[in-house]
Amino acid sequence: MTKFVYADNAATTKLDIDAFEAMKPFLLQEYGNASQPYSFSRSSKKAIKEARTIIAKCINAEPDEIYFTSGGTESNNWVLNSIAGCNRDCKIITDNIEHHAILETCHSLEAQGYNIQYISANKIGKIDIEIFEASISDNVKLASIMLANNEIGTIQDIQKLCEIAHKNGILFHTDAVQAIGHIPVDVKKLGIDFLSASAHKFNGPKGIGFLYIKKGIEIRPFMNGGAQENGLRAGTENVASIMAMAIALKKNVENIIPNMQHIKNLEYELIRRLALSEIDFIRNGDMEHHIPGNINLSFKGQDGEVLLHRLDLKGIMVSTGAACDTQNTQISHVLKAIGIPNDYAEGTIRISLSKDNTMADIVYIIDELIKILN
Ligand code: PLP
Repeated sequence: MTKFVYADNAATTKLDIDAFEAMKPFLLQEYGNASQPYSFSRSSKKAIKEARTIIAKCINAEPDEIYFTSGGTESNNWVLNSIAGCNRDCKIITDNIEHHAILETCHSLEAQGYNIQYISANKIGKIDIEIFEASISDNVKLASIMLANNEIGTIQDIQKLCEIAHKNGILFHTDAVQAIGHIPVDVKKLGIDFLSASAHKFNGPKGIGFLYIKKGIEIRPFMNGGAQENGLRAGTENVASIMAMAIALKKNVENIIPNMQHIKNLEYELIRRLALSEIDFIRNGDMEHHIPGNINLSFKGQDGEVLLHRLDLKGIMVSTGAACDTQNTQISHVLKAIGIPNDYAEGTIRISLSKDNTMADIVYIIDELIKILN
């Protein structure tokens, strides 16, 4: 039987078993609508409150600063569209390596006449602080810079960028979908106004996430039609998924240091073995500050899609670029933006490890990869 090694954790993660167990009562027994006043709905209401408190504690926020959404895409759309909607002639600053949930929302705003400024990331995917500061002009109301890049794992200096934004009266949003549950995140320390997160990236269920909105910041509702989420995001709450998201995040945050260490050890071994093979490759991203386990490799003269399918035949799941890009055979916008030469960029795969991967997985991945490349 073919072995199975899942190494595409930046695309999605396995649902944590305790998170799954936490869902069951709210699907089978305690299914009351949390908005109903009768006693049967009390446990749903209590669960939402408890989940909000758990999640807030994990990122050092207050419970009433957490708004449940359907995930990262929704949270990103909410912030950008709402701030633009409140300020007809405003400008927004972002960068050229953001996830499409930011970039396409910005393109849609541009089509409506808004002015969006895209800062170029440098060759390791970093946003230069001075370039960010120099890009600030009149009427900029919002800056949106991701905490960690989904393709190459580069982590930005959000605290510093946010400080500069605030000094200039600009609100600051960060897409932290790839960071939450994987590296420590403290919203108060970062100073940010908005943060997007998605449960399926940290062993929670798909289709649920949250938006952190700093107390006192005004934002328009994402959806109208009910009083849920303080009247800002209408719709009957997905209690089971909300509870599971909280349990998954709490578990990841409680074990974050040992998990990071374990993943870094695996990553080190993978790169060490690959380097010994004398195969011509580039590792993309910031080697000093990146999400543990996000390993983006470009192999000269190869085809990333062919590599993906040949690894798949061996039971190894990796990605060529962003997961959302798999229909698209073009070189990813991130690799283009950081200037990876075409003959390397075309042969790119992203291996993204998790706490569940083992050293045996690494040995298997590398052995098979080297055989394919040779
Ligand atoms: N932002 C980043 C950085 C991501 O990696 C992703 C998913 O790949 C998203 C946003 C979208 O999140 P979701 O799948 O929850 O809509």
